[in-house]
Amino acid sequence: MFSFYASEWRSLLHGFDAETSAVLARIAQTKHQKLAEHFYSAMLEDEAASGLLSHEQVHSRLLGSMQRWIVQVLGTPEEEDLEALVAQQVKIGEVHARIDVPVHLVLRGARSLKKALQIEIQREAPALRAATMEIAGTLIDHAMEAMAQGYALSRDNNSRNKESYRLFTVTQNLATVREQRRAELLDWENQCLYLHAMGADNQPLSNLATSDFGLWFRHKGVDMFQGAPATQSILETMERIDSELLPRLMHSKGSDSAGPLLQLREHARHIGMSLESLFTQNRELDAGRDVLTQLLNRKFLPVVLAKEVQYARKSASVFSVVSIDIDHFKLINDQHGHEGGDVVLQQVAAVLNNNIRGSDYLFRLGGEEFLMILVDTSSAGAASVAEKLRAQIAREAFHLPANQKQRVTISLGVASFDGHPDFQRILRQSDEALYRAKRQGRNCVAIA
Ligand code: GH3
Ligand code: MG
Ligand code: MG
Repeated sequence: MFSFYASEWRSLLHGFDAETSAVLARIAQTKHQKLAEHFYSAMLEDEAASGLLSHEQVHSRLLGSMQRWIVQVLGTPEEEDLEALVAQQVKIGEVHARIDVPVHLVLRGARSLKKALQIEIQREAPALRAATMEIAGTLIDHAMEAMAQGYALSRDNNSRNKESYRLFTVTQNLATVREQRRAELLDWENQCLYLHAMGADNQPLSNLATSDFGLWFRHKGVDMFQGAPATQSILETMERIDSELLPRLMHSKGSDSAGPLLQLREHARHIGMSLESLFTQNRELDAGRDVLTQLLNRKFLPVVLAKEVQYARKSASVFSVVSIDIDHFKLINDQHGHEGGDVVLQQVAAVLNNNIRGSDYLFRLGGEEFLMILVDTSSAGAASVAEKLRAQIAREAFHLPANQKQRVTISLGVASFDGHPDFQRILRQSDEALYRAKRQGRNCVAIA
């Protein structure tokens, strides 16, 4: 994707008249500050935008990065820098998606920038004006297109996770769902066989795709198992049953129908078995839980954080994030093997989980790293929760498989929401605090 946009950009640059390009680059160089300020004040007039931009960090950062953006996009970049320039546009789009910048705002920003540029270009020699404006418009549009790519990709990803998070919360009891679907599939098969055996000639047999089972699978099952290969195979088998087998069965009688009947049985069994294995494989992972510790899977972190940021901004409340890492965990693995490490991990996870409120979230990020989101909790409150957790873990004697006991300590980093719309910021802050705690000697809490 990057190389596509970079090579397009390269051929655009080659096609431009050198003198005109130079005029535009000079305007960008000398007027970037004025242009960025114009852009910014135009955006502040919009209510949705001013909400997002009001954070002082955003303000000062945005002005600076907008100025650089103007110089880079409207200037004449070196050919070898084009890929990086494209990558940067894609990244900007991803940030927009993460902090939920509405598309119309981005487009309005581009429009207001073009308008401000036009005023500057009017000061140039009349013969150059039209061509300069055209180049400027082309370059801005091209950069915006790459940005839109980043936006769309990130959006897609995010909404997939949102949906599976939603399913996770509504399908708490997977065992029940599993039994119900199995029964529905069986019902459909029995009904088919019954209608056929009754010799209901030329009466259409009901399609699997529109049966209770088929509807559930197509609308929810596919999302629930998130494109696992077996989902595709179930969809294809359903399609084959409906379009080939049922019509053959409908028009066959007596011994002629033995073949299609047998195939129907086999196909239905294949679907049943694929479904079973999907449920088994995804019992923990795709229900949103980490297999080893039963904590939340990290793939839901962006969904939950974006939700909490939105909530905090709307209700002017504060939440906190605690990054947690077990100290010298490698030693435990070295002394007691990976399995020893695993049981310690499970117990640490359980202690952490038992010492937070039901409204809080606890994720396993991977390895022996955890992340906690404490809702409606200030920095001071989070610091005392973190300290309580640290002490609790240090007090506990963890069990090892061979009846041995193991002491463990954790280091914690705390950061609290400061109004910034991008949740990457609070994650970075709690992570930095955690590393400070490690440097300060471990088994302690550091506050961002
Ligand atoms: P530090 O105090 O600096 O955090 O030291 P550490 O030994 O914990 O350092 P580090 O975070 O680099 O090492 C983590 C180790 O955890 C490395 C890896 O072998 C082990 N690990 C990662 N995932 C798992 C797992 O699922 N099970 C087990 N048993 N060990 C794991
Ligand atoms: Mg560690
Ligand atoms: Mg670690």
